Amino acid sequence: MWENADRATVQAAFRAAALVVVLAWLFSDDVRAWVPIWVPIVLLLAAELEFVFRGRREAPRPAPSRIPPGPEDADLGFGEVVEDDDGIRFLPPPARPERRGRRLGWVVGAGIAAIIVLLAVRSDRGATWAVLSEEARTTAETRFTAEASRIAGKPVRIRCDEGYSFTGAGSDTLGIAFPGSGLAYLDPTICRALYDLAFAGDHRGDQRAADALVVLAHEAVHLAGERREGVTECLALQEAGPLALRLGMPEGTTRRILRTAFAERLSERTIIRAAYALPSSCRDGGALDRRPDDPRFPF
Ligand SMILES: [Zn+2]
Repeated sequence: MWENADRATVQAAFRAAALVVVLAWLFSDDVRAWVPIWVPIVLLLAAELEFVFRGRREAPRPAPSRIPPGPEDADLGFGEVVEDDDGIRFLPPPARPERRGRRLGWVVGAGIAAIIVLLAVRSDRGATWAVLSEEARTTAETRFTAEASRIAGKPVRIRCDEGYSFTGAGSDTLGIAFPGSGLAYLDPTICRALYDLAFAGDHRGDQRAADALVVLAHEAVHLAGERREGVTECLALQEAGPLALRLGMPEGTTRRILRTAFAERLSERTIIRAAYALPSSCRDGGALDRRPDDPRFPF
């Protein structure tokens, strides 16, 4: 079938399919969660390799013979000089035929480009905290404050660090707590993920949601007075479960993402994160197990 099919058609179809996969991968979190990054890369690489190898196997094209100028060269000034009884005059070439195919190609290309730009702008804006209305942000901060107070066991305050004054744009710090004043700041990306979870019903249960839940719980544990990072993280992993349920996440999803988050932290071995390493007592039945009767850990 591949030998008989028109090569150009197969190539075009394959490239279009690869483009669709890559776009879906770029703009859909669901696709990204299920398709590893190398799949679109391998798809495009396969298309290019096929192009090169079939081109090399094909018989070389005969050298083009000289073609005299024709009507399509009208814009280059091509015409004819004729001599008749009236004298010598210039005979312009016939009008250039309109190339509708090429124009259609441009229109389709521009349309696709516009759609890509629109999708990129939308996905970018949709994911930020700042794009939410002030009312939505205030409501969300009130809710986060209530949840943190519940975990801390005393009234504390949670603010979203809109100006990145404390968390730092692009830095690793996703939250910072000031136990003395009972106040913690969260990175705006964390606030947005929590907002999507609590107010927009986004219960996909991906790593983004797990991280956001653990960060809020982590700062709340700090505000309760715990300073040791490893202990704080261990308690936060356990508090994140009930927190997720209160924010509306289904129980099965919650247990799955927190098991993954726990496993990730156990396998963390970088020296930079050494202070955050979970203590060995952070296990089912360990000294840090807040629910010793429950064999499920951390939730
Ligand atoms: Zn901390």
